[in-house]
Amino acid sequence: MALGIAERLVAEETLKMTICERCNTQEDTLVVRVFSKFFVASIMFFAFKKRVHIECISCKRMEKSIDSFPKRTQDRIEAVVGDAKHPWYLYSGYVIFFIIILISLVSK
Ligand SMILES: [Zn+2]
Repeated sequence: MALGIAERLVAEETLKMTICERCNTQEDTLVVRVFSKFFVASIMFFAFKKRVHIECISCKRMEKSIDSFPKRTQDRIEAVVGDAKHPWYLYSGYVIFFIIILISLVSK
């Protein structure tokens, strides 16, 4: 792929001591996955946002938004998302751009 948008899984974590309020059976059924979304231009990558996906392994519920959960669960999901970092190489595009600008400024 030379140009476009792609994403990569960067974190996968089960929420401890948290109950899915839909099936309400047991703890530790909610699995949070965080994806890095990035723009690809040849060998340059530009990370620009994170996408979150929450699945309950008990009732098979899948959510794309944390708004579907109670506030307490939302906070735990946000902590996982906050800890998930874009891999360093997904910033390569910004670095290359910065270097090109720097070189063009210096060479003037
Ligand atoms: Zn559930």
